[in-house]
Amino acid sequence: MPNFQSPDQIIRPEILALSAYHVPPATGMIKLDAMENPYPLPAVLREEIAQLTATVPVNRYPDASAASLKAALRQALAISDEMDILLGNGSDEIIQIIAMAAAKPGAVLMSVEPAFVMFRMIATFANMPYVGVPLKKDFSLDLEAMLAAIEKHKPAVIFLAYPNNPTGNLFDANAILTIIRATSGIVIVDEAYHAFADASMINQLTQYPNLLLMRTLSKLGLAGLRLGLLIGRSEWLTQLEKVRLPYNVGIMTQLIAEKVLHHTDVLLEQAEAIKAERTKVRQYLDTIDGLEVFPSDANFILFRVHTASKIFQALKQHRILIKNLDGTHPLLENCLRVTVGTPDENSQFCEILRTILSKTV
Ligand SMILES: *Cc1c(COP(=O)(O)O)cnc(C)c1O
Repeated sequence: MPNFQSPDQIIRPEILALSAYHVPPATGMIKLDAMENPYPLPAVLREEIAQLTATVPVNRYPDASAASLKAALRQALAISDEMDILLGNGSDEIIQIIAMAAAKPGAVLMSVEPAFVMFRMIATFANMPYVGVPLKKDFSLDLEAMLAAIEKHKPAVIFLAYPNNPTGNLFDANAILTIIRATSGIVIVDEAYHAFADASMINQLTQYPNLLLMRTLSKLGLAGLRLGLLIGRSEWLTQLEKVRLPYNVGIMTQLIAEKVLHHTDVLLEQAEAIKAERTKVRQYLDTIDGLEVFPSDANFILFRVHTASKIFQALKQHRILIKNLDGTHPLLENCLRVTVGTPDENSQFCEILRTILSKTV
């Protein structure tokens, strides 16, 4: 019998040092923590989906190229024929594909801080050194610091979320373009919140050979399906396709996403409703003393209070789940992030928050 090694002898030290991505239990809660669209699909569409799924050949592997779904995406998102599409089981998986493909020994993955935590985590999974360049205090890009870090670390890959999560703002487009021109590596602009912002880098793809653009259906109302996409030149996507597992997008996801994409007006109307609610919540939060509310082009609002953890816990006791960002980054001290929900959820959140604050101040 061999002497079995324990996990801490087999597993890489960087993985042992990680804490797993934490998803808090949300049963019975008003769930405003994960940037989900709060609205269900219309009953007619759900009925059509039910019929569609009744006859799905689940005994067969899905179409590995997802050709039909890609055609629907191309049309719904107005993706030019010059660009290729790569699909992921959520855009999280696309980040992983890019990192795995680019992880030469020592190759650096760069982003800003605070940013989407998966950039850093996936760099670690792929054994890539990660460099996070701090944003300015107002969460805008620190272009000088970015350019200096690019010069110093020569990153293979830069991820920038546009709008950014967890801050909610759009970075200055010219600053992003300067970064794209300054780096010899690739830049992935992550437009997970595109539906809630009036800006996109999609038209820059033809001009910048090292730019790739990422989108997802998650924040648009299909988080449970898991579908993300990368848009870019075939010279990049042909290589990245080799790392994609052949059946990463299941048959249910392909069929349902395609069906819903033929009704994008439904999703876009919901996004408009969420944007209108975002304005209302923001205006309400602005009237509360002691809150600092940050501007948002996404479906969530970041705000600062005096005692974030206390208020987060008190909200939770009232069955309202938001995200506590205190302690995750120095710039996010005492910051909380609330996802915009339905009008009813939002007014419950606002009222309860006001009551809690009037008691704790
Ligand atoms: C939510 C989010 C994603 C991940 O979305 P999935 O497609 O659900 O994996 C990617 N990037 C950013 C910035 C996000 O906030």
